[in-house]
Amino acid sequence: MGRVYNFAAGPATLPLPVLEKAKDEFLEYGSTGMSVMEMSHRSKMYLEIYQQTEAVFRSVMDIPEDYAVLFLAGGATGQFAAIPMNLLPEDGIADYVDSGNFAHGAAVEAKKYGNVHIIASSREDNYVHIPVIDASMLDADAAYLHITTNNTIFGTRYLSLPETGNVPLVADASSNILSESYDIRKFGVMYAGAQKNIGPAGMAVVIVRKDLLGHARNSTPKIFDWAKQAEADSMVNTPSTYTIYLAGLCLEWVKAQGGIAALEKVNIEKAALLYDFIDNSKLFKGTADKAYRSRMNVTFVTGDPETDNDFVKAAANAGLLNLKGHRLVGGIRASIYNAMPIEGVKKLVDFMKEYEAKHV
Ligand SMILES: *Cc1c(COP(=O)(O)O)cnc(C)c1O
Repeated sequence: MGRVYNFAAGPATLPLPVLEKAKDEFLEYGSTGMSVMEMSHRSKMYLEIYQQTEAVFRSVMDIPEDYAVLFLAGGATGQFAAIPMNLLPEDGIADYVDSGNFAHGAAVEAKKYGNVHIIASSREDNYVHIPVIDASMLDADAAYLHITTNNTIFGTRYLSLPETGNVPLVADASSNILSESYDIRKFGVMYAGAQKNIGPAGMAVVIVRKDLLGHARNSTPKIFDWAKQAEADSMVNTPSTYTIYLAGLCLEWVKAQGGIAALEKVNIEKAALLYDFIDNSKLFKGTADKAYRSRMNVTFVTGDPETDNDFVKAAANAGLLNLKGHRLVGGIRASIYNAMPIEGVKKLVDFMKEYEAKHV
């Protein structure tokens, strides 16, 4: 079996040139005589890899010097806890927008540490849209407002960022970071689990404005303390050295594609191919409100769960894998992150056409 088109939501498909480069360098990195996995994280050769990864990340996302960049173990879920530990005073208030399952989970985790206000929610509508937010809903003295820029499970995305005035905007961008342009200066913190658009699983990148560092509670474990991690180049303990290296290769790939703006154009095209077909289909129907449709996670159904399952199986037999919707919502989901080539999306649309012709 050759390589398939993998539409998994995460861990997700990685760019083939990245995997090939990693394979070439697997046994011996450069002239070091060893694999990156075998290097001390304190060694000169590894520090070069680390610094290069951070530098490319800063360059593709245009991250200024007054923001720290951290590569931390524990994924995005680890940061659900780290955020209140670092930003929320014991008697403070944190505002959250509940726009999906992960957004909800972030708020639930934060509640363990203090007062959480859900200022807007689309939970009652099964998260098919992003709730409307206006500045008047915010607590003026909130420690931060937390949003989830792309909802991986339900397939929705924010069209614009909420105006938060002096309240720092904290964003979980796990499933759309690097896929569309953001001005990082509008955020206090942006973070993302790596396994969708950055690299392999198990790590989060955290971009944090430096004035927000240094307010962690005394009880914060040192590996979750952003200020300590920033001071130590994310090496308070042994970091995920190989994952960081692979993320570096992925970021170089992003740069070689022409950067985020160039990828964003292709991503818009890829999503349009799928949505246009779905909107004209007699069998498939999109599940997210049109206005808020994600460009990364395309969710749809046939209307019959058995047909959904049959479609997912038939697609897998045709080399189009992992199209099953999230276990919480069922249906079908095609995750089409940066590394999914447009050819994969075209193959999927062709397959959907064939399937429809046989089943309507
Ligand atoms: C995948 C995902 C997470 C969870 O990431 P982990 O690395 O598994 O903790 C959180 N938020 C969003 C938006 C995600 O897509």
